[in-house]
Amino acid sequence: MDGKKFIQVILPLPLAWEPYYAVPEGMDLAVGDRVKVHFARKPYSAVVSRCPVEPQTLIDKILPLDAPEAGLPAIAESEIAFWRQLAHYYLCSVGEVYKAAYPSMKIQSEETQVRKKARLEERIARLKEKMEKARREETRLRYQAELDALAHPEKARPEGLSHALSPAQKKALEGIHDGFRQGKTVLLDGVTGSGKTEIYLALAREVMDRGRSVLYLVPEIALSRQLEQRVGAAFPEVMVYHSGESPVRRREVADEVRRAAPSIVLGTRSALFLPHRNLGLIIVDEEHDSSYKQDSPAPRYHARETAIMLGILQGASVLLGSATPSLESLYNAEIGRFAKVDLKERYYSGNEAPLMVIDTVAERRKNGMAGSFSLKLLAEIRRTLDEGGQTILLRARRSYAPSVQCSACGHIRKCPHCNVSLSLHRNPDRLVCHYCGHTEPYDGLCPDCGEPLVPLGAGTQRIEEELAAIFPEARIARLDSDTPDKEEAGVIRAFAEGETDILIGTQMVTKGFDFSGLSLVAVLQADSILSQQDFRADERAIQLFEQFRGRSGRRGKPGLFIIQTREPSHHVFARLEGTDDSAQLLEERRQFGYPPYTRIVQLMLRDPNEKRVNYMAMELSRTLSSLLPEGCVIGPYAPAVDRIAEQYIRHIRLMLPRDRQLTSRKDAIAQSVAAFEKERKYNGHIALDVDPA
Ligand code: ADP
Ligand code: ZN
Repeated sequence: MDGKKFIQVILPLPLAWEPYYAVPEGMDLAVGDRVKVHFARKPYSAVVSRCPVEPQTLIDKILPLDAPEAGLPAIAESEIAFWRQLAHYYLCSVGEVYKAAYPSMKIQSEETQVRKKARLEERIARLKEKMEKARREETRLRYQAELDALAHPEKARPEGLSHALSPAQKKALEGIHDGFRQGKTVLLDGVTGSGKTEIYLALAREVMDRGRSVLYLVPEIALSRQLEQRVGAAFPEVMVYHSGESPVRRREVADEVRRAAPSIVLGTRSALFLPHRNLGLIIVDEEHDSSYKQDSPAPRYHARETAIMLGILQGASVLLGSATPSLESLYNAEIGRFAKVDLKERYYSGNEAPLMVIDTVAERRKNGMAGSFSLKLLAEIRRTLDEGGQTILLRARRSYAPSVQCSACGHIRKCPHCNVSLSLHRNPDRLVCHYCGHTEPYDGLCPDCGEPLVPLGAGTQRIEEELAAIFPEARIARLDSDTPDKEEAGVIRAFAEGETDILIGTQMVTKGFDFSGLSLVAVLQADSILSQQDFRADERAIQLFEQFRGRSGRRGKPGLFIIQTREPSHHVFARLEGTDDSAQLLEERRQFGYPPYTRIVQLMLRDPNEKRVNYMAMELSRTLSSLLPEGCVIGPYAPAVDRIAEQYIRHIRLMLPRDRQLTSRKDAIAQSVAAFEKERKYNGHIALDVDPA
């Protein structure tokens, strides 16, 4: 060789390989450096993945790279190793992981310095404002402590902000240490209100005192907002990180984490991709929550599995916590891969809220219904209001009405781009597609025959309206994904502070919020939660209901949990009455060959051409059948919503035995799909999902 140097790079693209570039004379590069390159005539910001490297291709064809990326921090080799592992597990390209980890956002470094100061001032102003509004003495003190800490970061940490653990909590903490000492991931199975959060904070304190960093994951942004206060009281330096934060802020957090001084980050799954150094502990709170799984785009990763991979690479302990652990984690505990620690005692004694199941069909027959509400539920809401308590109502559908139908011709309005009905939203009136976002104005008349349209069913918005008419004096609020991001935190805070009597919302309201004044929780039309066609449907429904039930009666006051349903004999309700039945759910999974006893790789084909997608799905299914043991390939089949945004959708499900050949089979599937795409010129239509949610 004539002394010319070459490198390989990772591009933010779904490429199965890493292209070569020639290094211009005099340029000094190392693995992890960011460089500007052209690929297929387009400019990209790439990461040097091998350097120097001897090309396995014709040297004459290799292009020189354009320039180093000035101002972009280098990526650690441990990060690249993490990406590779993730790409291998989830059958995607390293480039796709790179793209998820470093979404392109160019920010000047100087800008972040100025912003940092402005942010601090802003935070102080916000806290002062909150403190004035706070009603409870307890809350006010917490804000004051936070303020003191922000104003005097150099002072020792304010005392008394983390609680002393109860004996039961101490015992759990010891159990967790035991598990960590054995090098195991620990599953903390603790009922709601048992003080799991207190244990997380105690552990985080220990880890940070030893000079290492903590990553505290929560499934959703709204939860991170509520926990920010609580974690902030113990760790004023906590940094919140999620996709809702501004690019400048995210860059600041990344810079801080990269410094490798002990830090604590509270974030959603994307925080796994921060440039972690020296991580000592990863907490995955509410580990069962399906929001931890990224559906799209690739990498379609689950934060729980990914945290475990990251933990191994960083030498960090991993703690999974839940009141309703996933069957996957229970299985891992059963086979000894995880250590399991139980905490079945609430901190403020008191039993979980008793359950009342109301049969809406029977009630309607007896004139016991008023709109969406049974009179029995209304009586309980009335009683709760009279006693000064608070109520949360769950309805799993946002909108005013899930669909509208013509009163004359029976026509149901559908989305022009998807195979679903349009939902009616009020204020302003419009029809909205919940799949592609298509919106059209609503004048209440059928476009075919001009007769009036009738809203069918009731979503959160209509329920709010009904409730306001029944309880005009009550302070009512709604929380669903129609709530503007900016207002979300305000709605939650107002409820937490007792400024709202009744909160209506979608699944968002069931999450780990700690509302001390909450006494009644109720589910309306539970059937929409039960009717999903999926082997995880029961597990999910039970988790959701238990999670929701755990919100009420948290300070030793007895609560009440009401479910309105058309199908009161559904076995899920029997399970809510009974004791822990996860063993039985696991046994069913085993019998039917579902995860965790198998691994699913799901293939999703999308194509605007229906005939072609049917043909390709058949062909692909045949190809895969020849590769895998008998009975592993299911489908192709059309999913419940089989057309979205002009794309026809078909699925093929592969159920792989969890044996020694699993990894090689997964690799073979990925290769076979890639070859199929290439042969048939069908690139970009097939997506793979490992462990689909
Ligand atoms: P979980 O996370 O398991 O739902 P939390 O940590 O939110 O439970 O605890 C429930 C309530 O009990 C919270 O209000 C919390 O502040 C309180 N609590 C739990 N443990 C303690 C403790 N050791 N000292 C004081 N308060 C505690
Ligand atoms: Zn649509």
